[in-house]
Amino acid sequence: MTVNVRFAPSPTGVLHIGSVRTALFNWLYARHNNGKFLLRIEDTDKLRSTDENTRLIFKILEWLKIDWDGDPVIQSSRIERHKEVALDLISKGKAYYCYCTPEELASKKEQCLKENRPYKYDGKCRNGNDNHDSNIKPVVRLKSELEGTTTVNDMVQGEVTVNNSQLDDLVLIRSDGTPTYMLSVVVDDHDMNITHVIRGDDHLTNTFRQIQIHKACGWDIPKFGHIPLIYGPDGAKLSKRHGAASAIDYMQLGYLPEAISNYLLRLGWSHGNDEIISREDAIKWFDFDNVGKSP
Ligand code: GLU
Repeated sequence: MTVNVRFAPSPTGVLHIGSVRTALFNWLYARHNNGKFLLRIEDTDKLRSTDENTRLIFKILEWLKIDWDGDPVIQSSRIERHKEVALDLISKGKAYYCYCTPEELASKKEQCLKENRPYKYDGKCRNGNDNHDSNIKPVVRLKSELEGTTTVNDMVQGEVTVNNSQLDDLVLIRSDGTPTYMLSVVVDDHDMNITHVIRGDDHLTNTFRQIQIHKACGWDIPKFGHIPLIYGPDGAKLSKRHGAASAIDYMQLGYLPEAISNYLLRLGWSHGNDEIISREDAIKWFDFDNVGKSP
């Protein structure tokens, strides 16, 4: 089996310890299967991404001896490619320009809220909108499937199905011409030949929409594995409030990388009662069969 996985952190904040576990699980899965572990820096949010956070991602991975194959992919350098895919989808009738204004959409949202209905884009521009104001800069939306269901056979969560009627025509390109996260991730995963997308379970709902983009492009759909996040004792995502949440904190507090990596490995995965597991054994034993679903 070919296994190409990726770790795709956004340098919009300091690397969270939960993200480090995602990196570790990806890395072990790749090494276990003689596959590739690729690194992608998702820095398209230029306002919030910093070089310092990117530097710390490299530093933490090196500290934990999680080595990546090839050069890291810098997502912002691929924006033209992301746009090209969106334009191609338009030419194939799989995506369209939407001229609805933010005000118009906000008022429709408000109406839904009043009527206690979930909001979903109503597809006004789906079949063309010749009467639009020529000053409006359009967004590009995907023509999502309206009928049927989308099922993910998740390596951790099992089979999860949604009705396509629940998915709306998501935005691929914003009115300022920038590609959205949804589009960029799918194009990059495809171009990097990613076979398994292993990430935090906060991305599970995005997966159904990303599958729609893969399908519209006519591309193979990778396998998915959504691993639970790390929670504090109060049931909320681990944060500064619980003590250290960023990986760099643990480094600065003097924890040994072997200890951190052993601890993260055993958080949600186990091999019998083994408490201290060498890297060699971890590579030999790691699989998703033993990864738990609960946070
Ligand atoms: N950049 C995203 C994040 O840091 C991850 C996207 C993905 O793994 O698909 O949450």
